[in-house]
Amino acid sequence: MPGENLTRVEAQERKSVVDVQSYEIALDLTRGDEVFGSSTTVRFTATPGASTFIDALTRTVHSVTLNGTALDVDAVSDGVRIQLAELAADNVLEVVADAEYTNTGEGLHRFVDPVDGEVYLYSQFEVPDSRRVFAVFEQPDLKATFQFTVTAPARWQVVSNQTTPDPVVDGETGTWTFSPTPVLSSYVTAIIAGPYDVVRSDLTSSDGRTIPLGIFTRRSLTEYLDADYIFEKTRQGFAYYEDKFDYAYPFEKYDQLFVPEFNAGAMENAGAVTFVETYVFRSKVTDAIKERRVVTILHELAHMWFGDLVTMKWWNDLWLNESFAEWASTISTAEATEWTEAWTTFQAMEKSWAYRQDQLPSTHPVVATITDLEDVQVNFDGITYAKGGSVLKQLVAWVGIDAFYAGVAAYFKKHHHSNTELGDLLVELEATSGRELTSWSKLWLETAGVNTLRPE
Ligand SMILES: [Zn+2]
Repeated sequence: MPGENLTRVEAQERKSVVDVQSYEIALDLTRGDEVFGSSTTVRFTATPGASTFIDALTRTVHSVTLNGTALDVDAVSDGVRIQLAELAADNVLEVVADAEYTNTGEGLHRFVDPVDGEVYLYSQFEVPDSRRVFAVFEQPDLKATFQFTVTAPARWQVVSNQTTPDPVVDGETGTWTFSPTPVLSSYVTAIIAGPYDVVRSDLTSSDGRTIPLGIFTRRSLTEYLDADYIFEKTRQGFAYYEDKFDYAYPFEKYDQLFVPEFNAGAMENAGAVTFVETYVFRSKVTDAIKERRVVTILHELAHMWFGDLVTMKWWNDLWLNESFAEWASTISTAEATEWTEAWTTFQAMEKSWAYRQDQLPSTHPVVATITDLEDVQVNFDGITYAKGGSVLKQLVAWVGIDAFYAGVAAYFKKHHHSNTELGDLLVELEATSGRELTSWSKLWLETAGVNTLRPE
């Protein structure tokens, strides 16, 4: 469909015209099993007189109102994008639409539990799928605050990035009005709703706040959940990262949700991480799988800083998100949990995966050219995750672990709630280590293929 594949050039042009301040999003999840109601109010500044577009993958657009003027829906919306012309310096856009549930794990996934017939919903927005749920300028460098209001069956749990408020109940229906998030990229916002079971706990962050913790599963899986163990690994990860990154956990609570039919291992929604359900063990599993789950828990937790607090400008730096999370989760697993041999597993699994992929015709440099969204989808691979993670381990050896953490801490403080490129991290590491990193980056990040050693 024309327009679904946003290009980097389009994103750069849009960023040069608009700056987004806030979204207010109202979702009505009581409208049957195909569509839900989606109302979005966006406040944004723009170059006066300029034109642009907002992304909205919809079943039906009911109304589009820009600065108080109703636009001709058929003229401006094609079901993928909504064209916006003659922008003012300060703009308010309201879009009222019906959007579709999916069963592909993109946008708002709807699952009916065959055990008891209960309905479970969860969102998955990376890479470009928040536009399947609300109208959004969908690119990582247009960060804004997001305020969700959700109408759903009153007996459900509703989870988002912010702490779940008490619903206002009207008969069988409840309305949850969440507080606005800190500024975020849209791909890490989230809505999870359904009759999930929840186990709660809390911890104290390094700046003294009480951080509520929650673990959610669908009811038919609850008997298998080992919540105490997952809380223990979560606490160990929090303590490790807050200390090493010298930066307190950046959000107000931390929920971990095991969701059905999930496509990947997990997703780092800010404060509301989703995991594949196979991580709820229904029978005895091997130590390798137990260790892998711990690494995944700590991988997603690392993303709260690297990815969510500081985010890549464009998807060409996706590798930096994923490589950093791979590296950080492995070192924290080895140093903060009972899985002290995690680097051995990394060598056996991740690094061999990288070597294999790096010798195929399809290999690419760790820093890949990403001209559009379709390029991103093929880059969740052994180069982005495993070679990138291996190369970061080499970088840590080159600059020294203390200088590395000091550089990362400086990077978080300088760029928090903002967007960066690779160079922004290298500058901090060069400053703390005193080592020149441009030639290292050229050799290891910007060149594809394995290196060859010859004896002389
Ligand atoms: Zn990741």
